[in-house]
Amino acid sequence: MNVSNQDEVGKWVSKLIAEDRLEEFYNSKYWRRLRKEVLEEYKHECQDCKAKGYYTEANHVHHIQYVRKHPRLALSKTYIFQGKEYINLVPLCHDCHEARHGYRQKEKKEPLTEERW
Ligand SMILES: [Zn+2]
Ligand SMILES: [Zn+2]
Repeated sequence: MNVSNQDEVGKWVSKLIAEDRLEEFYNSKYWRRLRKEVLEEYKHECQDCKAKGYYTEANHVHHIQYVRKHPRLALSKTYIFQGKEYINLVPLCHDCHEARHGYRQKEKKEPLTEERW
């Protein structure tokens, strides 16, 4: 698969979502490679903690444009909106990742794993 072809990525990820097999995306070599690359680019620093002025190791890479809503952007570091480029993938620590997803406001009983995000 050509990971920079958003149509191709979109088709693949949409299919996985439809078949309830999205964990295959998170386990894929494409995502693993990109995730590692993003973590390294940001020196494994949680960006939300950094914004608050302290250092926490990031062990999650969050999609600003949720994979389920925007399958085409699943493997894109950035996205274009109204002619401007924005960051799509951001390294976060566990707590900040939960916060971004509003986990504590939701009624989900089981802990979220990376596979679900
Ligand atoms: Zn954090
Ligand atoms: Zn996330």
